[in-house]
Amino acid sequence: ADTYAEKKIGSLKPTLTDVDSAVTWMIKKDLHRKLPATFEAVKAWLNVLHMYYPGSATMNNFLSDLIEFMNSRTTLSSQELKHYINSISTTKLPNIKYDHCNGSDSSKRGYPCSLWVLFHSMTVKQAILAENNKLPSNVQPTDMIISIREFIRNFFLCEECVQHFLTGTANAENEINSFRENVLYLWRGHNRVNKALRGEVESNDPVWPKVPYPTKQQCGSCVLRVDENDEALEYDENETYNYLKDFYDLQNLSNQKTT
Ligand code: FAD
Repeated sequence: ADTYAEKKIGSLKPTLTDVDSAVTWMIKKDLHRKLPATFEAVKAWLNVLHMYYPGSATMNNFLSDLIEFMNSRTTLSSQELKHYINSISTTKLPNIKYDHCNGSDSSKRGYPCSLWVLFHSMTVKQAILAENNKLPSNVQPTDMIISIREFIRNFFLCEECVQHFLTGTANAENEINSFRENVLYLWRGHNRVNKALRGEVESNDPVWPKVPYPTKQQCGSCVLRVDENDEALEYDENETYNYLKDFYDLQNLSNQKTT
């Protein structure tokens, strides 16, 4: 049995609950902090989020209402946004609860994990829409990473993470030329972050080791070469792309077993 199954902590795959929780957290705790200076940035992020949100109908409806509210305003203070959210959130915003991102204690995983899951699932949803010719013709493959970068720059509280992410994605505009490549770009970037954080035992969850993703156990056909510990050294990117589309297609996950 693997460590996850043994310890019964978290589901193996992300669920709608993980991404709903990511959005509830960011709306309650992050988006209001620098208003009114970030009014346009909040609006821009909410529009991208709503367009590619893979989560529940409840959250989608909440986002529609919030966007409508923002569009009816020319500016907004932090207090006003908090007031709007508190006035309706008990009935309309899902609670924060993690499935895949449930840590072995409350200081582990949680929001940062669910934020990665949200970003990956948004890139996958966009790529699937593109494959089915369902994207508006003015949407460019680099739009999403630019939006994610702006979200991180404006709203993510971890200063060190912001600096790393901005540096790591500084050349994204020259490296992404398709929606498929955008999915793979974020996958490669996340693996680089994992590699850099491997030694930082304090914030890492021992139940969820930071190893190259996907592992051979998760996707045998994705992994072309492994090291002496069976960790992936080289990937087949076609297989990995297909695996990512399946892993992050959250619509299909509502009936999954939790380990
Ligand atoms: P996470 O790394 O958060 O991963 C969540 C889930 O994503 C995994 O459980 C797995 O199912 C899946 N996954 C793993 N790798 C990949 C991949 N390559 N592609 C697709 N899916 C994958 N912390 C720091 O200490 N320093 C930083 O500089 C830093 N930068 C960050 C930048 C961003 C944009 C974000 C969102 C977070 C950052 N963090 C940083 C937090 C850190 O990356 C982790 O989120 C945190 O340590 C929790 O890790 P985790 O083990 O729960 O899994």
